Amino acid sequence: MTSSASARKWLALFKTRRPDPMSDRRSLIAGNWKLNGTRETGVALAEAIAQGMSTSERCDVLLCPPFPYLEAVAKAVEGTRLKVGAQNVAAAASGAYTGEVSAHMLAELGVSHVIVGHSERRSLFGESDADVGARTLGALDAGLVPIVCVGETQAERESGDVDTVIARQLAAVRDAVGADSLDKLVVAYEPVWAIGTGLTASPDQAQAVHAMIRAWLAVAGAGSAGDMLILYGGSMKPGNAAELLAQADIDGGLIGGASLVAEDFLGICQATV
Ligand code: PEP
Repeated sequence: MTSSASARKWLALFKTRRPDPMSDRRSLIAGNWKLNGTRETGVALAEAIAQGMSTSERCDVLLCPPFPYLEAVAKAVEGTRLKVGAQNVAAAASGAYTGEVSAHMLAELGVSHVIVGHSERRSLFGESDADVGARTLGALDAGLVPIVCVGETQAERESGDVDTVIARQLAAVRDAVGADSLDKLVVAYEPVWAIGTGLTASPDQAQAVHAMIRAWLAVAGAGSAGDMLILYGGSMKPGNAAELLAQADIDGGLIGGASLVAEDFLGICQATV
C-alpha cells in the first residue's frame, strides 16, 4: 500500500473511533535547555521557575537541562512541583556505547521524562526513525516517560507530506515499543521550520496536525489515545502560547529558547490556566 493510501485508510478508520478531544488531560509544559548555561545558571533558573510557579496553573512542569546538570537541578527542585527530564537516552541499558547515557542512569538522578527524536538529534546527529524507536524503548524499559518528537521540514510541508512524514516517524516508534505501550508516550509535534526560527505554526495548523496524531495513535492501537498528551513545540512564547494551548488537541508545550528565561517560561505556564 502506498503511504498516501495508508494515510487515507487510517483517517477513514479514525472517523469511527475518534477519541474525545475534550478529555480532562492535564497540560505539560517542558523546557528544553539544549546545550546552554552552567551549573550555577541552571540551578538559579530552576530555582527562579520554582519560586515563580503559583498553584493556579493547570499544568505539570518539566525542566530538561544538559546531562551534567541533571542531578543539581533535580536537587534544586526537590519538594516543588517541578520535574526533571533529560534531552536524550541510549537505547541500550549498558555496554560498549561510548558517550551514551542509559535510562537507568537517568532514573538514578531523579529524572522522570526524556526527550527522544528531537529534530536536532535527527538532523545533526543522524538519528534515524529506527534509532528513535530503539531509544524510546530504552526509556520505557527503565520506567521513564519518553517525549517523542515528530515533525516535518518546510520542504515536506510544501510538498503536502506532513501526515505521511509524521505517520512514518510514529510507526517506527510503534514498531519498536509495540502498540500496547503507545499510550505510555508523550508525543511532541515540532514542525522543524518553527524550531528556533521565530516562526510558529498557526493554532489551526498545529491543531490539525495534533488531531491527526491522536487519530493515528488511536488507529495504531493506543488504548487511551484520548488521554495521551500531545505537546506543541516551535517558537512558543508567552505571547502566542494561550492561543495554541487553547486548541482541543494541544496539551502543552515543548519550549526551547523561551525556557531559558524564567519570566518567559512562567508566562507560558500561566497560559495554561
Ligand atoms: C525545541 O527545541 O524543542 C524548541 C521548540 O525550540 P524553540 O522553542 O526555541 O523553537
